[in-house]
Amino acid sequence: DPDRAERAKRALELDLEYVFHSWLAQDGRQPFTADGGQGSWLWDGAGTPYLDFSGQLVYTNIGFSEPRVTKAIAEQAARLATIAPQHANDARSEAARLIVERAPGDWFRRVFFTNGGADAIENAVRMARVHTGRRKVLSRYRSYHGNTTTAINLTGDPRRWPNDYGAEGVVHTFGPFLYRSAFHATTEAEECARALEHLEQVIALEGPSTIAAIVLESIPGTAGIMVPPSGYLRGVREICDRHGILWIADEVMSGFGRAGRWFAAELANEAPTGVPGEWTPVAGAAAVPDLITFAKGVNSGYLPLGGVLVSEPVLDTFRQRPFPGGLTYSGHPLACAAAVANIGVLSDDSLIANADRLGREVIGPRLHEIAATSAIVGEVRGLGAFWAVELVRDKNTREPLDPGAPMNALKQACMSRGLLPFVNGSRTHVVPALNITDEEARYGLALLGEALAEVESGL
Ligand code: PLP
Repeated sequence: DPDRAERAKRALELDLEYVFHSWLAQDGRQPFTADGGQGSWLWDGAGTPYLDFSGQLVYTNIGFSEPRVTKAIAEQAARLATIAPQHANDARSEAARLIVERAPGDWFRRVFFTNGGADAIENAVRMARVHTGRRKVLSRYRSYHGNTTTAINLTGDPRRWPNDYGAEGVVHTFGPFLYRSAFHATTEAEECARALEHLEQVIALEGPSTIAAIVLESIPGTAGIMVPPSGYLRGVREICDRHGILWIADEVMSGFGRAGRWFAAELANEAPTGVPGEWTPVAGAAAVPDLITFAKGVNSGYLPLGGVLVSEPVLDTFRQRPFPGGLTYSGHPLACAAAVANIGVLSDDSLIANADRLGREVIGPRLHEIAATSAIVGEVRGLGAFWAVELVRDKNTREPLDPGAPMNALKQACMSRGLLPFVNGSRTHVVPALNITDEEARYGLALLGEALAEVESGL
């Protein structure tokens, strides 16, 4: 491509001059300039390839430039590029059917479409408040739910701090996280029991009759990919049932195959076997959330789309009574056509099962090997194509590695080897496309191992 270098150079110049960016100080940025992508690979203006271990913001579940999805978008654009939300449209109707059919349990009925994850959370909470007639919502400290008012207030991580103008009705709790246990637990079973007891106490002291919902990422993602111990989500369901509280499962990051299941809430009815990344059904368990929020992987981010899966009891509340909410682009046909094609790719290519296998056979085993030999990898955890590598200064004290210079060095060490990492705080997450080949995944893990060794030797 003779124009590539010039195009990328201009993209960078104009970005630095005209684009106002998320979360960062505007000066001093040195962004990577992507000029194109295919499968698990991106390339820059020089044509240098980078293997994407980040899924961008953990959403390109089918990788880049999947022709079945780009073709579906182009065909929809040619026939009907847009339509207001009150009219029926085949792309939207079909997307809703496909999503409802893949929801866990047997009581999800409808989809309310949004533009992304944050507004899915906003609307799920609104549904829960109207449905229960209650105001308060519980969430976790280690969480991210998005950047609109309610979603950022529910968020636990420090991005909430500068945006917290009074979190009306929001109460934060501790979830289970054995490596950094808030409960002095030493086993997953203990952590699980104490986290549930803590939740129960918070509910008792906040007043059960005032709480509309508990919002939980089925697996907290950005905050560190803490797969909940077996029994935790089942326990949450039981507590919610006892107090008439709704369980809202935030599956924006964990849904659509990322965790080797259509929705990670399915883990409520499974237990780990002891083999890293391997879980098996628990006989008789049938815990299902009341509302599920999704975005990202629903169409692999080819166009902005999110939504709320609505269970029958919540739907019943709005059968005769208007739902007080709406969005101009709710169920946008281009985004929905991308979802239909994306779900087709995930299904036809068995990518949900492939993600699960990748976790068990490729990513999990290699990361555990790296952890065993590295002095700075405190813990690796995850399943499917959803893994965290927790970096520490000292494996005994578990003091986190400084998120500044050493983590920047890790990012550089990855980039200089042609690996695009997802670095957050003192962790790097291994979150590739679900159709990354085993060879590509092994190659990327080898590069990550080298980069970690380089950072360790530079400390
Ligand atoms: N919920 C979770 C679990 C997320 O990971 C994110 C984004 O990372 C969001 C909500 C917000 O989604 P969006 O950025 O599409 O608004």
